[in-house]
Amino acid sequence: MMSIIPIPAFRDNYIWALRSGRFAAVVDPGDAAPVLAWLDANDAELSAILATHHHADHVGGIPALRAHYDVPVFGPAHEAIPQRTHPLAEGDQVVVPGIELLLSVFDIPGHTAAHIAYYTMPPDPLVFCGDTLFAAGCGRLFEGTPEQMWSSLSKLAALDENTRVYCGHEYTLANLRFAAAVEPASTDIEARIVHEREKRERNLPTLPSTIGAERATNPFLRAALPDVIARAAAHEQRPITGAVDAFATLREWKNAFA
Ligand SMILES: [Zn+2]
Repeated sequence: MMSIIPIPAFRDNYIWALRSGRFAAVVDPGDAAPVLAWLDANDAELSAILATHHHADHVGGIPALRAHYDVPVFGPAHEAIPQRTHPLAEGDQVVVPGIELLLSVFDIPGHTAAHIAYYTMPPDPLVFCGDTLFAAGCGRLFEGTPEQMWSSLSKLAALDENTRVYCGHEYTLANLRFAAAVEPASTDIEARIVHEREKRERNLPTLPSTIGAERATNPFLRAALPDVIARAAAHEQRPITGAVDAFATLREWKNAFA
């Protein structure tokens, strides 16, 4: 029986630990110290490291973890991942050592040039999507184009609606404030704000989300909808010519949103 536990790191990162028996694998260990402390406190042994993209707050802890545990490091083939042993790209599959969970790989460029996601299909679907899809938001476009990011988000949005979404940061409440600005009449967004705020008041993570919840409340997944296109056009005061244009407009709007 596998469990998935968030290990908080830095200000708002989550390192995800996959635990089965005495073994644990971690996704995106930006810092080694909280992982080593968690392994120690939970009497667990590290069996693998998985990385979604090359940013330091996702891979910075790998060398120190590998100094303690000689474990495989899975990561995107086309990014510089410290001590990567298993380069991965779209269509690859991984059986996570020690956990025996089979994960498939998507290429989801946009936040970085060769960002990947790890996912499973029903009956117990989940996705580790790093900084590409957030709860009610998406990552900034540091290395990719709006076309790439829209295509990557569309791929994730097409996963089964019950897919649990494990992303890299606790940004949900700030993202929902923006979602409510884009779709002020949405009762789904209003209800989600109440629900997620209650979790944060109890110091609980808002994650995992689900693909179904994201389709209903995440403006970046809703950029092809006529109402959202109309709101983007009204904000920009110019005609919007389709989903990619609307997506790019939302992303810029969010960048400037206080
Ligand atoms: Zn990142």
